[in-house]
Amino acid sequence: MSTQPHVLVVEDEPAIREILAYNLEAEGCRVSTAADGEEALLLVAEDTPDVIVLDWMLPRVTGIEVCRRLKMDTATRSVAIIMLSARTEEIDRVRGLETGADDYVTKPYSMSEMMARVRSQLRRVRPTSVGQVLAYDDILLDAETHRVTRNGASLKLGPTEFRLLSTLMEKPGRVWSRDQLLDRVWGRDIYVDTRTVDVHVGRLRKVLTAGGGGDPVRTVRGAGYALG
Ligand code: CA
Repeated sequence: MSTQPHVLVVEDEPAIREILAYNLEAEGCRVSTAADGEEALLLVAEDTPDVIVLDWMLPRVTGIEVCRRLKMDTATRSVAIIMLSARTEEIDRVRGLETGADDYVTKPYSMSEMMARVRSQLRRVRPTSVGQVLAYDDILLDAETHRVTRNGASLKLGPTEFRLLSTLMEKPGRVWSRDQLLDRVWGRDIYVDTRTVDVHVGRLRKVLTAGGGGDPVRTVRGAGYALG
């Protein structure tokens, strides 16, 4: 399911990588793994995750460098990065380097602590994936119960329109290209024509405006769609 949060684990020690992946999958995440910084950058370019658990000491390209590059690139800047390091002094150094990491964890850490850190980042970058209620203007969307209301009235949305609306509501104002919406709403393994996005946006608009409210979905010519 594309509503599953996507976490990338970058760690060169196979045992640590596997246990992290195992625990994240148990938390309901879709997990990708990379064994070095170069592989991590390639994976991010191909399939951008929501959160990256990034080890500092990595072969080829270090965690610090990976972090710096991702935070400099507008396409990947919003990905949450949790840096892992062996000692607190290292963490202090990483912080001092202003890599832009969103959180720092010192090894050894407990798995429950790590999962809490990941959840906390997901709440920020991907609120619907952890069951938050989203609000935009007079529209409320409960990701857990799949209930959507506008001005208090319940709206009946199909599953695709629901995912489309939750994606748009996660970041009001952000312009999503049709390809980005396809990845997020339909999933990247499914072949769907980009015009399908227009069809479903049309359906979503119809439901949203049925009660007389204005159309909150904006068409950005040549770019895609945004909320507000
Ligand atoms: Ca390492």
